[in-house]
Amino acid sequence: MSKPFYITTPLYYVNAKPHIGHAYTNIVCDTFARFHRFLGEEVRFMTGTDEHGTKIDRAAKDQGKDAKVYVDEMVPLFQSLWNLLGIQYDYFIRTTDDNHHQILQNIFKTLEAKGDIYRGKYKGWYCTPCESFWTETQLAEGKCPDCHRDVQQLAEDNYFFRLSKYQSWLVGYLRDSPRFVWPETRRNEILSFLERPLEDLCITRPRARLTWGIAYPSSPEHVVYVWFDALVNYVSGVAYSKDMKQFSRFWPADLHVVGKDILRQHAIYWPIMLKAIDVEMPRTVLAHGWWTIEGSKVSKSRGNVVDPFEIVKRYGADAFRYYLLHEARLGLDGSYSEDLLVERLNSDLADDLGNLVLRATSMLERYFSGRIPDATSSATPLRGKLASMTDLVKNAMLGFQPYAALDAIWEVVREANRFVEQNKPWVLAKENKKEELGNFLVGLLETVRLLGLVLTSFLPSTAEKILSSLGINGRPSIQDMQWGSLKAGVRVEKGVPLFPKVE
Ligand SMILES: [Zn+2]
Repeated sequence: MSKPFYITTPLYYVNAKPHIGHAYTNIVCDTFARFHRFLGEEVRFMTGTDEHGTKIDRAAKDQGKDAKVYVDEMVPLFQSLWNLLGIQYDYFIRTTDDNHHQILQNIFKTLEAKGDIYRGKYKGWYCTPCESFWTETQLAEGKCPDCHRDVQQLAEDNYFFRLSKYQSWLVGYLRDSPRFVWPETRRNEILSFLERPLEDLCITRPRARLTWGIAYPSSPEHVVYVWFDALVNYVSGVAYSKDMKQFSRFWPADLHVVGKDILRQHAIYWPIMLKAIDVEMPRTVLAHGWWTIEGSKVSKSRGNVVDPFEIVKRYGADAFRYYLLHEARLGLDGSYSEDLLVERLNSDLADDLGNLVLRATSMLERYFSGRIPDATSSATPLRGKLASMTDLVKNAMLGFQPYAALDAIWEVVREANRFVEQNKPWVLAKENKKEELGNFLVGLLETVRLLGLVLTSFLPSTAEKILSSLGINGRPSIQDMQWGSLKAGVRVEKGVPLFPKVE
């Protein structure tokens, strides 16, 4: 039996409400997870939250709250968005989980025993009002980049992880593993970044200036740097060092999906951490692009933050999923436009897909009282189109191109609508050609069934509505994508509009 497909999202930092970027990453992951389930594989889809560090401590203080109280209130906000968007994860991990802490401690023990961690001086600049530590290069004209006030030079004792020791190994590994970082352009960026010597990573902060973190095991005056803490989730979520049987069942991860802004952590720190504890590399780190809003970068100060809760309330989860998956090629940036979302909703979803399903089920109601007739022939040009669509969708998804999968599906949706226009079933009905009309409708409904099946990965609630109107329930599978399994006599629900048009 093959290993379950293990896919992860980054852990989201809970210092603010989830935005379009979080929604996009989780929609992409959910689509892949659902598609692998559709292929008949067992799937482990993990998402979660990153809950330690200065920014969270500060966000909590701003609200006059204890940090743990604050994160406990933020986490359900993320989870409720995932429910709204139809994100079907198998496990939700929090960096405040006890289990995660214990595993992190085990990892430190291994690294210390190997001599990969040492104590040293960390030099930098400190902004007291912001409680932020900056490196020389992060300063803005010698001042704090956040508040532009004066900063003080600071040197503190901390613990360092020997990244530099593994640099040449990592370069070799990246060169030999073309699919480890996807897309190719990002892999090249990492390789060119690695042409300069890597500095060792400072992995602690003194408790004196940051209390909200996991205690560093061999020095209680230090807490663990949030990135080191957060990255470990990918193995702590599958019980590394605690239940090695479970761990080896899921590991290596097949796909870590991340935004391009956090690729260095995932393509440099993370593989080196794994190498140092002697754990196999994940198969692929996929870096997706950013969404700009009507052409400019999302930022709170610009006030162009798109609230995913609002979008779903206005247009529904599937319209949002369709728009994000279809509008940008995975790996490239996308430009979000609400007008364009409405346009796609009205044309692709309402006019094309919604109309096809409504027509097929309404005609069955009108001409056959809603019962599937006996077909005397299954000859229809749609059959061949559907077979090649299934292959196209599979190849597109395994090649990380959900937009191309959707294009292949919509090709068939539009073809099926043309098929109705060309065959004029209303004329067949008028001329009382029952047999021809029956064969035509069975072919059309069979097409609707196969579209419902293939759409389960992309538009889960729409797919479910389509399939249940045909009396099909249960876990959909690519094995069901065979022509001709609609049963004669089955009662089909009268069509309801799937996507009401939006003005
Ligand atoms: Zn400052």
